[in-house]
Amino acid sequence: MTQKLSSALSRVRGPLAGRLLVGLLIALAIGAYSVVTTPAFILDPSNGALSRQSPAVTQPNFLPIIFRSFKPTQETVRFAVIGDYGSGSQAEADVATLVKSWEPELIITTGDNNYPDGESSTIDENIGQFYHEFIFPYLGGYGEGADVNRFFPSLGNHDWHTAGAQPYLDYFTLPGNERYYEFTWGPVHFFALDSDPDEPDGNDSSSAQAQWLQSQLAGSTAAWDVIYFHHSPYSSGAHGNKIWMQWPFKEWGAELVLSGHDHTYERIFRDGQVYVVNGLGGSSRYPFKTIVEGSQVRYNDDYGAMLVEASELQLSFQFINRANEVIDSYSLGGP
Ligand SMILES: [Zn+2]
Repeated sequence: MTQKLSSALSRVRGPLAGRLLVGLLIALAIGAYSVVTTPAFILDPSNGALSRQSPAVTQPNFLPIIFRSFKPTQETVRFAVIGDYGSGSQAEADVATLVKSWEPELIITTGDNNYPDGESSTIDENIGQFYHEFIFPYLGGYGEGADVNRFFPSLGNHDWHTAGAQPYLDYFTLPGNERYYEFTWGPVHFFALDSDPDEPDGNDSSSAQAQWLQSQLAGSTAAWDVIYFHHSPYSSGAHGNKIWMQWPFKEWGAELVLSGHDHTYERIFRDGQVYVVNGLGGSSRYPFKTIVEGSQVRYNDDYGAMLVEASELQLSFQFINRANEVIDSYSLGGP
């Protein structure tokens, strides 16, 4: 290649070479000041169809296009997942210290945020004491809250022990109806569900809540759709499978399904879907019982939490215990 190029150049000599050089410099200058055409499509929200916008929008651009196209454009997010944690225990404190050492942008929970009975008298001691820096608005007594909300819990059965889960609904300011809701952060679309039988909109796959999820997933354009809630559809732990939560998540477009209730860590691959049970956030630890089909990793030796990092191309997660040992690592997608 180099030889071919030098031999080609060696053939171009004298005034011709000078003209070619000037021409090349002019071409480069034009390239540097060229216009960039932005993708000119309009989305029709009624039917999702894309149509071409005319005329194409152009704007002056100083940098050569070739440099711009190599600039990475992926957004990333780092978040933590804690479950069955709200007991005010030393184990909860240790897991909170671990989670905060990761400097996550946000924390999601797989439920049971406030033991034993979801009461207003215990909620700040069980949640705000350890995680107030992530909550907005934070009205409790343990210090400063966040500037925007970075704490997105889901409801567990213990949170429902007080009628209407009212202390939880009063304590948090969450999207939608606050019991089940969705939000997007970077490349991840999050869906918090309420798996409890007390949920007014139902908790099985034909409920109003499930219909909401299905339609939200159908409209999701995020790289990753992460669903989280309390009662595990599949679990080898003491509570076992909760059949009413065996929704067709994969078919509806989910990439990852997180739950708790069993105080264990378990990764399960079932019907093409990755499920994780994450309930070692600080309350107690449960034994394993009947090992379910698709169970790939099981752990209950100590408390811990999940660290998740996602870009447009890859979602990676780890379960790490409070002694900072990585128990499980798994990735979806690829670099
Ligand atoms: Zn529970």
